[in-house]
Amino acid sequence: MEAFEPVARDLRAAGLDCQLADDHSGSDPRLGATAELIVSGVKVGLLTLGAAILDTDSRTLYLAAQTQRLVQANLAISGRVIEWPPCVPSHGHPMMATRGRRTPLWTCPLDGSISVAIGSHP
Ligand SMILES: [Zn+2]
Repeated sequence: MEAFEPVARDLRAAGLDCQLADDHSGSDPRLGATAELIVSGVKVGLLTLGAAILDTDSRTLYLAAQTQRLVQANLAISGRVIEWPPCVPSHGHPMMATRGRRTPLWTCPLDGSISVAIGSHP
């Protein structure tokens, strides 16, 4: 799915493999289509793909925020929560998904001048 591609790229940049699988659980259809998100072999939960009326950037932003929540809540390596996507090395927190002027961004929650386009996280 096009809108998820930048999010998948940023997961891979952090060494996390990911897949989307069709969701056949028949969850609430009012929420729109869902897909099961599998990260590094762990089923971390369901992503709501977003109404078709949203543009691709808005869907990417929505998917990035959901993916971050699922990864942080359900994936730990050696018992440690994964701070994904990581902020600058001196900050021990993850970045947050924000709506940039031209493209969706990962932004430092403490310093808005630190940001990187979603899909370009180093
Ligand atoms: Zn920061």
